[in-house]
Amino acid sequence: MSRLLVISNRLPFSIDNTGDEAVVRQSSGGLVSAIKSYFEKADVQDEGFSEKLWIGCMDGTEEEWNTVVQRSQMPHEFTVEPLFPDKKVYDDYYNGFSNSTIWPLFHYFPSLVQFRKEHFDSYRSINQLFAERIIEIYRPGDVIWVHDYQLMLLPQLLREKLPDASIGFFLHIPFPSYELFRLIPTKWKRAILNGLLGADLVGFHTHDYVQHFIQSCKMILRVENQFTNILYKGQLIKCELFPIGIDYAKFRNAITDDLTVAVATKLEDRFYNQKILFSVDRLDYTKGLEYRLDGYEEFLNKYPFWREKVVFILNVVPSRDLIPAYIERKKMIEEKVSTINGKLSSLHWQPVIYRYNHLQFDELCALYQVADAALITPLRDGMNLVAKEYVASCIDKGVLILSELTGAANELSEALLVNPTDTEEVADAIDTALTMHLIEQRSRLSNMQRRIAEYDVQKWINDFLTNLQDIKAQQAAMKAHVIKEENIRKIHEDFLQAKKRCILLDYDGTLSPIQKLPAMATPTNDLLNMLHDLTDDSRNEVVVISGRDAETLEKWLGHLPVILVAEHGAAVRLKGEDWKEQATMSAEWKERIRPLMDLFVKRCAGSFIEEKKSTLAWHYRNTHAELGFSRSRELRNSLLQLTANTPLQIIDGNKVLEVRMIGVDKGATAMNIYKLLQPDFILCIGDDTTDEDMFRALNDKGYTIKVGKSNTAAEFTILSQSDVFPFLRKIAENSATGVTAR
Ligand code: UDP
Repeated sequence: MSRLLVISNRLPFSIDNTGDEAVVRQSSGGLVSAIKSYFEKADVQDEGFSEKLWIGCMDGTEEEWNTVVQRSQMPHEFTVEPLFPDKKVYDDYYNGFSNSTIWPLFHYFPSLVQFRKEHFDSYRSINQLFAERIIEIYRPGDVIWVHDYQLMLLPQLLREKLPDASIGFFLHIPFPSYELFRLIPTKWKRAILNGLLGADLVGFHTHDYVQHFIQSCKMILRVENQFTNILYKGQLIKCELFPIGIDYAKFRNAITDDLTVAVATKLEDRFYNQKILFSVDRLDYTKGLEYRLDGYEEFLNKYPFWREKVVFILNVVPSRDLIPAYIERKKMIEEKVSTINGKLSSLHWQPVIYRYNHLQFDELCALYQVADAALITPLRDGMNLVAKEYVASCIDKGVLILSELTGAANELSEALLVNPTDTEEVADAIDTALTMHLIEQRSRLSNMQRRIAEYDVQKWINDFLTNLQDIKAQQAAMKAHVIKEENIRKIHEDFLQAKKRCILLDYDGTLSPIQKLPAMATPTNDLLNMLHDLTDDSRNEVVVISGRDAETLEKWLGHLPVILVAEHGAAVRLKGEDWKEQATMSAEWKERIRPLMDLFVKRCAGSFIEEKKSTLAWHYRNTHAELGFSRSRELRNSLLQLTANTPLQIIDGNKVLEVRMIGVDKGATAMNIYKLLQPDFILCIGDDTTDEDMFRALNDKGYTIKVGKSNTAAEFTILSQSDVFPFLRKIAENSATGVTAR
């Protein structure tokens, strides 16, 4: 049976020196509590893992650890594999690149970002240290799950040495938009994306983060994607959203826990006749604590009725106190708290109760339970578990005021959603929360509670691991798609048996190699002869189905007894007949698109526009590769905006962006031809995105073959365009001789 290897920056322990002798203590935090509760609950046999290991860094030396472990109570649910990095290197990796480059940038604080080479070098070294240890421990069949932004290079370092391993990666913070991500120096940002794409599955909290990541991969690494799958270095990689859940049962059970009830009762006594507003966050500039305090102050000024009737319990948990940006933040918050208390307190009342400390679990749950409203207003947050924990803990009252810039806002739509920097909106939301009818509070809570209960942390983990298994199966299936000798033999046999055969062939990239200029792809004599030979047999119907215009097809292939399809189906010429247009369309739309394409022709040397009857295409095949690609992404975005709510579609082809009417595609045309001819054998070959429609339409009717390695709906793939000709030549010969290939 396989093992599960969980990899995170830190192990969930710290060495506690407060007693007579140092001992190991388990620590907490979002990621730690998620994984720990899974480890504690999951039935090892049910999960299919024979063992679970947790690999991460520890403070101190290996000798210290060995001594302390002897006298400590260690968990039995998982095996611990500590790493002991060099202190200076670790500092540059953790406080440096992780928390002074990635953290501020990924949370949209570009002005706080430091770009220091020595930080990145250390980041690489620590990722390397992890890789070496994991490679030592790894056994075939193990599942490796890497967590978070400190280890983004690790998946690829592992992939290089363990090509077949199952590797998952989950990012617990936001993935920023491309405009932010591109601020990172090129070498580093390439290394990060390359690192992440070493995983088989890359998970994020929200759909936006998935999209941002795919966009950055496309812009920077020029990868192809199909939905949320990316093809990179010949490997299919899935990018998906898995909004992390909480241990719902644990927070519900705390409602009847004696210790928690005792703390809650004390709090209720102390604040009898006052409403309790509450928040808890790590000390972090992303949490928006100053704006939050401004919002609260504005609330007390705008709604003076509430003075002496409300108290704000502001809990700040110490964090990253070696980084200057964090030290400054603490000072700013404390000054603001003093100002509000100094200005607005009375002899009997203090508006803000501020604590800078860790909370015990029972204290935290008691606060969640007694608070009339929680004010959770980060400026950015990957998810925010506190919001979910608060909702889970509410018994029969409670209102969540939540920043719309948290990942959690996607799921908790019944919260009062606010923009955290809009202090007036925050002030109004506090008033709305405190005056909300109990029936409305309960109705909002129960909707959110149902959702949180359903997708709890256990579900989250199982969902991730199941998806990882699925993508491994898809990769194996993709490998199996490359056409083999036995498949070719079967195609030949079926071909020979058939009475009516239909062979649909794309032109560019299939029958003819892709050329710098479309006009250069004239058919060779060999190709013309081969098509001719195929059509010699009256049982064969050959269809050349192309994106080319009718004029070009007529000029190149018009003399052959084949069916010609131009502009992806906009015009068709049946054997011995004239060209027929499939639909009459006003070409007025082209005048709206052309100026934008013209602009991109000017901005990208070597690109050009090709106008066909029903399409307008921008080609960038012979431009500077990087520039052409990046301009194509910009043009695509602009075209998407321009054509929104119109019957036009944008096709992202091979080094070409094409705009055309929806409904004209190779799939619909191929189906029409199939119905017309009623063949008992179909062979369909193509290389481009536009050919996928044809594959989907004909997959259950005959053989479909994609040229080139990519994610495809076709049954088989032929790796190179140059292999298509010999393959078809053989079929033409067999057609003549009636003999199966050997
Ligand atoms: N938490 C904790 N100790 C405390 C206060 C809070 O361990 O003294 C927990 C809290 O219950 C939550 C996590 O820390 O599970 C904070 O996660 P969140 O996503 O809200 O913010 P993050 O700290 O990850 O940015």
